[in-house]
Amino acid sequence: MSTTPSLRPMFAFPGWIIEDIAIDWGDLLATVYLRRDGRIQQFKCSHCRTPLGKMRTQERTVLDLPLGTLKVQLQFTAFQGRCSRCGHFETIMPPGLSPNAQATDRLKQHVSHLCRYMPCNKVPEFIPISHHTARRWDKETLLKTLPAPDLDNIRALLVDEKSIGKGHHYLTVVLDADTGETLFLGEGKRKTTLDQFLGRLTAEQKAHIECVGIDRGGSYQASVKEHLPDADIVYDKFHIIANYNEVIDKIRRREWRQAEEEDKPFIKGQRFNLFRNPENMTPQRESSLKELLAMNEDLYQAYTLKDMLKQLWTYTYKGCASKFLDRWIELAKETGIDELKRFAKGLNKAREGLLSYCQHRITSAKIEAFNGVIKRIVYKACGYNDLDYLYLKIRQEGQK
Ligand SMILES: [Zn+2]
Repeated sequence: MSTTPSLRPMFAFPGWIIEDIAIDWGDLLATVYLRRDGRIQQFKCSHCRTPLGKMRTQERTVLDLPLGTLKVQLQFTAFQGRCSRCGHFETIMPPGLSPNAQATDRLKQHVSHLCRYMPCNKVPEFIPISHHTARRWDKETLLKTLPAPDLDNIRALLVDEKSIGKGHHYLTVVLDADTGETLFLGEGKRKTTLDQFLGRLTAEQKAHIECVGIDRGGSYQASVKEHLPDADIVYDKFHIIANYNEVIDKIRRREWRQAEEEDKPFIKGQRFNLFRNPENMTPQRESSLKELLAMNEDLYQAYTLKDMLKQLWTYTYKGCASKFLDRWIELAKETGIDELKRFAKGLNKAREGLLSYCQHRITSAKIEAFNGVIKRIVYKACGYNDLDYLYLKIRQEGQK
Protein backbone atom coordinates (compact mmCIF):
# COMPACT_ATOMS: atom_id res chain seq x y z
CA MET A 1 0.00 0.00 0.00
CA SER A 2 1.39 3.35 -0.97
CA THR A 3 1.15 6.28 1.37
CA THR A 4 1.94 8.89 -1.27
CA PRO A 5 -1.60 9.54 -2.54
CA SER A 6 -2.60 10.97 0.84
CA LEU A 7 0.07 13.63 0.46
CA ARG A 8 -1.49 14.99 -2.70
CA PRO A 9 -3.89 17.52 -1.18
CA MET A 10 -0.88 19.25 0.32
CA PHE A 11 0.45 19.96 -3.16
CA ALA A 12 -2.81 20.73 -4.92
CA PHE A 13 -1.73 23.90 -6.75
CA PRO A 14 -4.52 25.13 -9.01
CA GLY A 15 -3.51 24.85 -12.66
CA TRP A 16 -0.81 22.30 -11.87
CA ILE A 17 -0.86 18.52 -11.86
CA ILE A 18 1.19 16.30 -9.55
CA GLU A 19 3.10 13.98 -11.82
CA ASP A 20 4.93 12.09 -9.16
CA ILE A 21 6.09 12.20 -5.56
CA ALA A 22 9.45 10.53 -5.07
CA ILE A 23 10.84 9.93 -1.63
CA ASP A 24 14.51 9.33 -1.00
CA TRP A 25 14.57 7.78 2.46
CA GLY A 26 18.34 7.91 2.57
CA ASP A 27 18.46 11.67 2.18
CA LEU A 28 15.04 12.12 3.80
CA LEU A 29 13.96 14.16 0.82
CA ALA A 30 10.62 14.14 -0.97
CA THR A 31 10.49 15.62 -4.46
CA VAL A 32 7.11 16.61 -5.81
CA TYR A 33 7.08 16.81 -9.61
CA LEU A 34 4.54 19.29 -10.91
CA ARG A 35 3.37 19.82 -14.47
CA ARG A 36 1.36 22.64 -15.89
CA ASP A 37 -2.19 21.48 -16.60
CA GLY A 38 -2.34 21.16 -20.42
CA ARG A 39 -6.11 21.61 -20.46
CA ILE A 40 -5.63 25.22 -19.57
CA GLN A 41 -5.60 27.29 -22.70
CA GLN A 42 -2.90 29.66 -23.75
CA PHE A 43 -1.11 31.81 -21.14
CA LYS A 44 -2.48 35.32 -20.83
CA CYS A 45 -0.89 38.50 -19.52
CA SER A 46 -2.10 39.05 -15.95
CA HIS A 47 -2.26 42.81 -16.56
CA CYS A 48 -4.05 43.19 -19.88
CA ARG A 49 -5.18 39.63 -20.66
CA THR A 50 -3.36 39.62 -24.02
CA PRO A 51 -2.40 36.06 -24.99
CA LEU A 52 1.32 35.57 -24.53
CA GLY A 53 3.37 34.26 -27.44
CA LYS A 54 6.36 31.96 -27.25
CA MET A 55 7.72 31.64 -23.75
CA ARG A 56 11.06 30.71 -22.32
CA THR A 57 11.10 27.68 -20.03
CA GLN A 58 13.13 27.26 -16.90
CA GLU A 59 13.54 24.18 -14.71
CA ARG A 60 12.97 25.12 -11.10
CA THR A 61 13.44 23.40 -7.77
CA VAL A 62 12.11 25.17 -4.70
CA LEU A 63 11.96 24.20 -1.06
CA ASP A 64 8.53 23.66 0.49
CA LEU A 65 7.15 22.94 3.96
CA PRO A 66 8.83 19.85 5.46
CA LEU A 67 6.86 16.80 6.52
CA GLY A 68 8.34 16.22 9.93
CA THR A 69 11.95 15.22 9.33
CA LEU A 70 11.31 14.78 5.61
CA LYS A 71 12.53 17.71 3.53
CA VAL A 72 10.25 18.57 0.65
CA GLN A 73 11.05 20.21 -2.66
CA LEU A 74 8.89 21.07 -5.66
CA GLN A 75 10.19 20.53 -9.15
CA PHE A 76 8.50 22.07 -12.18
CA THR A 77 9.02 23.94 -15.42
CA ALA A 78 8.31 27.65 -15.16
CA PHE A 79 7.36 29.69 -18.22
CA GLN A 80 8.59 33.22 -18.72
CA GLY A 81 7.74 35.79 -21.32
CA ARG A 82 7.02 39.44 -21.98
CA CYS A 83 3.61 40.70 -23.00
CA SER A 84 3.81 42.16 -26.51
CA ARG A 85 1.09 44.69 -25.71
CA CYS A 86 1.89 46.12 -22.26
CA GLY A 87 5.43 44.89 -21.81
CA HIS A 88 4.65 43.18 -18.50
CA PHE A 89 7.06 40.38 -17.67
CA GLU A 90 5.17 37.26 -16.76
CA THR A 91 6.34 34.12 -14.96
CA ILE A 92 3.96 31.19 -14.92
CA MET A 93 4.53 28.90 -11.93
CA PRO A 94 2.56 27.29 -9.11
CA PRO A 95 0.68 29.83 -6.98
CA GLY A 96 2.26 30.84 -3.67
CA LEU A 97 5.69 31.44 -5.16
CA SER A 98 7.52 34.65 -5.99
CA PRO A 99 9.38 34.78 -9.33
CA ASN A 100 12.95 34.13 -8.17
CA ALA A 101 12.21 32.59 -4.80
CA GLN A 102 14.11 29.55 -3.57
CA ALA A 103 11.13 28.56 -1.44
CA THR A 104 7.35 28.65 -1.33
CA ASP A 105 5.66 31.53 0.50
CA ARG A 106 4.17 29.07 2.96
CA LEU A 107 7.62 27.80 3.94
CA LYS A 108 8.84 31.37 4.43
CA GLN A 109 5.82 32.08 6.62
CA HIS A 110 6.55 28.94 8.61
CA VAL A 111 10.18 30.00 9.09
CA SER A 112 9.01 33.43 10.17
CA HIS A 113 6.70 31.77 12.66
CA LEU A 114 9.60 29.75 14.08
CA CYS A 115 11.68 32.93 14.32
CA ARG A 116 9.05 34.39 16.57
CA TYR A 117 9.74 31.75 19.21
CA MET A 118 13.37 30.81 18.73
CA PRO A 119 16.62 32.54 17.81
CA CYS A 120 17.12 32.44 14.05
CA ASN A 121 20.31 30.41 14.43
CA LYS A 122 18.22 27.50 15.79
CA VAL A 123 15.97 27.37 12.72
CA PRO A 124 18.51 25.33 10.66
CA GLU A 125 17.88 22.47 13.09
CA PHE A 126 14.34 22.24 11.72
CA ILE A 127 14.56 23.56 8.16
CA PRO A 128 17.51 22.91 5.82
CA ILE A 129 18.49 26.56 5.40
CA SER A 130 21.19 28.79 6.86
CA HIS A 131 20.35 31.17 9.70
CA HIS A 132 21.02 34.08 7.33
CA THR A 133 18.29 32.78 5.06
CA ALA A 134 15.97 32.27 8.04
CA ARG A 135 16.51 35.89 9.03
CA ARG A 136 15.99 37.13 5.47
CA TRP A 137 12.72 35.21 5.06
CA ASP A 138 11.49 36.34 8.44
CA LYS A 139 12.18 39.95 7.53
CA GLU A 140 10.52 39.54 4.14
CA THR A 141 7.42 38.02 5.73
CA LEU A 142 7.20 40.66 8.47
CA LEU A 143 7.55 43.47 5.91
CA LYS A 144 4.58 42.01 4.04
CA THR A 145 2.37 41.19 7.00
CA LEU A 146 3.02 43.65 9.83
CA PRO A 147 0.86 46.76 9.73
CA ALA A 148 2.75 50.06 9.91
CA PRO A 149 2.09 52.13 13.05
CA ASP A 150 -0.87 54.46 12.98
CA LEU A 151 0.64 57.86 13.71
CA ASP A 152 -2.57 59.85 13.42
CA ASN A 153 -3.88 59.74 16.97
CA ILE A 154 -0.88 59.85 19.23
CA ARG A 155 -1.20 61.84 22.43
CA ALA A 156 2.11 61.23 24.12
CA LEU A 157 5.53 60.02 23.04
CA LEU A 158 8.38 58.53 25.03
CA VAL A 159 11.86 58.89 23.61
CA ASP A 160 14.87 57.09 25.01
CA GLU A 161 18.33 55.98 24.11
CA LYS A 162 19.31 52.34 24.41
CA SER A 163 22.78 50.95 24.56
CA ILE A 164 22.89 47.45 23.11
CA GLY A 165 25.51 44.82 22.59
CA LYS A 166 29.10 45.27 23.55
CA GLY A 167 30.75 48.65 23.34
CA HIS A 168 28.81 51.81 22.88
CA HIS A 169 26.26 51.04 20.26
CA TYR A 170 23.35 53.41 20.76
CA LEU A 171 19.84 53.36 19.42
CA THR A 172 17.06 55.86 19.75
CA VAL A 173 13.64 54.43 20.41
CA VAL A 174 10.30 56.22 20.19
CA LEU A 175 7.30 54.67 21.92
CA ASP A 176 3.65 55.59 22.11
CA ALA A 177 3.60 56.49 25.80
CA ASP A 178 0.02 55.26 26.23
CA THR A 179 0.13 51.94 24.41
CA GLY A 180 3.84 51.15 24.58
CA GLU A 181 3.85 50.53 20.81
CA THR A 182 7.26 51.00 19.21
CA LEU A 183 7.00 53.69 16.56
CA PHE A 184 10.61 54.17 15.56
CA LEU A 185 14.08 52.76 16.01
CA GLY A 186 17.07 54.75 14.82
CA GLU A 187 20.84 54.48 14.84
CA GLY A 188 22.57 56.78 17.32
CA LYS A 189 21.31 59.09 20.09
CA ARG A 190 21.69 62.51 18.53
CA LYS A 191 19.21 65.21 17.75
CA THR A 192 19.33 64.22 14.09
CA THR A 193 18.30 60.67 14.99
CA LEU A 194 15.06 61.88 16.53
CA ASP A 195 14.67 64.41 13.68
CA GLN A 196 14.38 61.45 11.32
CA PHE A 197 11.20 60.36 13.06
CA LEU A 198 9.64 63.72 13.97
CA GLY A 199 10.46 65.19 10.57
CA ARG A 200 8.39 62.49 8.90
CA LEU A 201 5.19 63.36 10.76
CA THR A 202 2.55 65.45 9.01
CA ALA A 203 1.41 68.78 10.48
CA GLU A 204 -1.85 67.12 11.63
CA GLN A 205 -0.01 64.28 13.32
CA LYS A 206 2.29 66.73 15.08
CA ALA A 207 -0.62 68.86 16.25
CA HIS A 208 -2.12 65.84 17.96
CA ILE A 209 0.89 65.21 20.18
CA GLU A 210 0.48 66.88 23.57
CA CYS A 211 3.63 65.80 25.33
CA VAL A 212 6.93 63.99 25.01
CA GLY A 213 8.69 62.15 27.82
CA ILE A 214 12.49 62.38 27.65
CA ASP A 215 15.59 62.30 29.78
CA ARG A 216 16.61 65.83 30.74
CA GLY A 217 20.19 65.25 29.60
CA GLY A 218 20.86 64.23 26.04
CA SER A 219 20.08 65.88 22.76
CA TYR A 220 16.44 65.03 22.17
CA GLN A 221 15.07 68.18 23.72
CA ALA A 222 16.29 70.34 20.81
CA SER A 223 14.58 68.08 18.31
CA VAL A 224 11.29 68.10 20.23
CA LYS A 225 11.34 71.88 20.52
CA GLU A 226 12.01 72.25 16.83
CA HIS A 227 9.38 69.83 15.51
CA LEU A 228 6.77 69.96 18.26
CA PRO A 229 6.95 73.50 19.65
CA ASP A 230 3.49 73.18 21.24
CA ALA A 231 4.10 69.88 23.02
CA ASP A 232 5.05 69.79 26.71
CA ILE A 233 8.25 68.09 27.72
CA VAL A 234 7.99 65.66 30.62
CA TYR A 235 10.98 64.37 32.58
CA ASP A 236 10.01 60.95 33.72
CA LYS A 237 10.66 59.31 37.05
CA PHE A 238 12.77 56.51 35.63
CA HIS A 239 15.50 58.81 34.38
CA ILE A 240 15.45 61.16 37.34
CA ILE A 241 15.81 58.28 39.79
CA ALA A 242 18.57 56.82 37.62
CA ASN A 243 20.35 60.21 37.76
CA TYR A 244 19.89 60.28 41.50
CA ASN A 245 21.35 56.79 41.84
CA GLU A 246 24.46 58.08 40.12
CA VAL A 247 24.66 60.81 42.74
CA ILE A 248 24.40 58.25 45.54
CA ASP A 249 27.14 56.26 43.85
CA LYS A 250 29.38 59.32 43.72
CA ILE A 251 28.89 59.81 47.46
CA ARG A 252 29.56 56.14 48.10
CA ARG A 253 32.80 56.29 46.12
CA ARG A 254 33.89 59.43 47.95
CA GLU A 255 33.12 57.79 51.29
CA TRP A 256 35.02 54.71 50.19
CA ARG A 257 38.12 56.74 49.37
CA GLN A 258 37.97 58.36 52.80
CA ALA A 259 37.11 55.23 54.74
CA GLU A 260 39.47 53.23 56.93
CA GLU A 261 41.02 50.34 55.04
CA GLU A 262 39.07 47.71 56.98
CA ASP A 263 35.70 49.30 56.07
CA LYS A 264 36.39 49.57 52.35
CA PRO A 265 35.28 46.12 51.17
CA PHE A 266 32.03 46.53 53.06
CA ILE A 267 31.18 49.86 51.43
CA LYS A 268 32.08 48.49 48.03
CA GLY A 269 29.85 45.47 48.51
CA GLN A 270 26.83 47.65 49.29
CA ARG A 271 26.73 49.34 45.92
CA PHE A 272 23.74 47.43 44.56
CA ASN A 273 21.80 47.42 47.80
CA LEU A 274 21.78 51.18 47.64
CA PHE A 275 19.89 51.12 44.31
CA ARG A 276 17.68 48.16 44.98
CA ASN A 277 13.95 48.68 45.29
CA PRO A 278 12.60 47.65 48.71
CA GLU A 279 10.67 44.72 47.19
CA ASN A 280 13.95 43.20 46.00
CA MET A 281 15.61 43.32 49.40
CA THR A 282 16.27 40.22 51.45
CA PRO A 283 16.45 40.56 55.25
CA GLN A 284 20.20 40.04 55.05
CA ARG A 285 20.70 42.72 52.42
CA GLU A 286 18.48 45.00 54.44
CA SER A 287 20.50 44.63 57.63
CA SER A 288 23.85 45.20 55.92
CA LEU A 289 22.45 48.26 54.16
CA LYS A 290 21.22 49.54 57.52
CA GLU A 291 24.65 48.99 58.95
CA LEU A 292 26.23 50.99 56.14
CA LEU A 293 23.78 53.84 56.52
CA ALA A 294 24.29 53.91 60.29
CA MET A 295 28.02 54.29 59.97
CA ASN A 296 27.77 56.82 57.20
CA GLU A 297 25.87 60.05 57.67
CA ASP A 298 26.10 61.32 54.06
CA LEU A 299 24.90 58.09 52.53
CA TYR A 300 22.12 57.89 55.08
CA GLN A 301 20.85 61.33 54.14
CA ALA A 302 21.14 60.72 50.42
CA TYR A 303 19.32 57.45 50.79
CA THR A 304 16.50 58.95 52.81
CA LEU A 305 16.08 61.76 50.31
CA LYS A 306 15.76 59.25 47.50
CA ASP A 307 12.72 57.65 49.09
CA MET A 308 11.25 61.05 49.55
CA LEU A 309 11.97 62.17 46.00
CA LYS A 310 9.91 59.31 44.63
CA GLN A 311 6.83 60.89 46.15
CA LEU A 312 7.07 63.70 43.61
CA TRP A 313 5.34 61.48 41.09
CA THR A 314 2.38 60.78 43.32
CA TYR A 315 0.90 64.28 43.10
CA THR A 316 -2.07 65.11 40.91
CA TYR A 317 -1.99 68.86 41.44
CA LYS A 318 0.85 70.84 40.03
CA GLY A 319 0.74 73.35 42.88
CA CYS A 320 1.18 70.66 45.51
CA ALA A 321 3.94 68.98 43.51
CA SER A 322 5.68 72.32 43.18
CA LYS A 323 5.57 72.92 46.94
CA PHE A 324 6.85 69.43 47.55
CA LEU A 325 9.71 69.97 45.09
CA ASP A 326 10.68 73.21 46.87
CA ARG A 327 10.73 71.40 50.17
CA TRP A 328 12.87 68.59 48.76
CA ILE A 329 15.35 71.02 47.22
CA GLU A 330 15.57 72.88 50.51
CA LEU A 331 16.25 69.67 52.44
CA ALA A 332 18.89 68.60 49.95
CA LYS A 333 20.65 71.94 50.34
CA GLU A 334 20.43 71.73 54.11
CA THR A 335 22.41 68.49 54.13
CA GLY A 336 25.42 70.52 53.06
CA ILE A 337 26.50 67.61 50.85
CA ASP A 338 27.95 69.01 47.62
CA GLU A 339 26.70 66.23 45.37
CA LEU A 340 23.14 66.67 46.67
CA LYS A 341 23.27 70.43 46.40
CA ARG A 342 24.28 70.17 42.76
CA PHE A 343 21.53 67.68 42.03
CA ALA A 344 18.96 69.90 43.75
CA LYS A 345 20.04 72.83 41.63
CA GLY A 346 19.58 70.74 38.50
CA LEU A 347 16.09 69.69 39.59
CA ASN A 348 15.14 73.28 40.14
CA LYS A 349 16.16 74.06 36.58
CA ALA A 350 14.19 71.10 35.31
CA ARG A 351 11.13 72.16 37.31
CA GLU A 352 8.80 72.73 34.36
CA GLY A 353 9.47 69.31 32.87
CA LEU A 354 9.12 67.63 36.27
CA LEU A 355 5.83 69.26 37.18
CA SER A 356 4.25 68.70 33.76
CA TYR A 357 4.04 65.08 34.83
CA CYS A 358 0.99 65.97 36.94
CA GLN A 359 -0.87 67.06 33.85
CA HIS A 360 0.24 64.41 31.35
CA ARG A 361 1.06 61.48 33.59
CA ILE A 362 3.54 59.85 31.23
CA THR A 363 5.02 57.01 33.20
CA SER A 364 8.27 55.33 32.38
CA ALA A 365 6.73 51.87 32.76
CA LYS A 366 6.69 51.43 28.98
CA ILE A 367 10.39 52.23 28.74
CA GLU A 368 11.17 49.77 31.47
CA ALA A 369 9.10 47.09 29.71
CA PHE A 370 10.89 47.89 26.47
CA ASN A 371 14.27 47.16 28.07
CA GLY A 372 13.22 43.56 28.55
CA VAL A 373 11.82 43.29 25.03
CA ILE A 374 14.94 44.59 23.29
CA LYS A 375 17.19 42.11 25.08
CA ARG A 376 14.97 39.24 24.03
CA ILE A 377 14.75 40.49 20.46
CA VAL A 378 18.48 41.00 20.00
CA TYR A 379 18.91 37.42 21.18
CA LYS A 380 16.30 36.09 18.77
CA ALA A 381 17.48 38.20 15.85
CA CYS A 382 21.04 36.92 16.53
CA GLY A 383 22.50 40.39 16.78
CA TYR A 384 21.57 43.94 16.07
CA ASN A 385 23.28 44.71 12.78
CA ASP A 386 20.10 45.00 10.79
CA LEU A 387 18.14 47.77 12.46
CA ASP A 388 15.14 47.50 10.13
CA TYR A 389 14.80 43.86 11.08
CA LEU A 390 15.13 44.66 14.77
CA TYR A 391 12.38 47.24 14.42
CA LEU A 392 10.06 44.72 12.73
CA LYS A 393 10.78 42.13 15.43
CA ILE A 394 10.01 44.59 18.19
CA ARG A 395 6.78 45.60 16.51
CA GLN A 396 5.85 41.95 16.07
CA GLU A 397 6.31 41.43 19.80
CA GLY A 398 3.57 43.98 20.41
CA GLN A 399 1.12 42.19 18.11
CA LYS A 400 -1.42 39.72 19.39
ZN1 LIG B 1 -0.06 42.79 -21.00
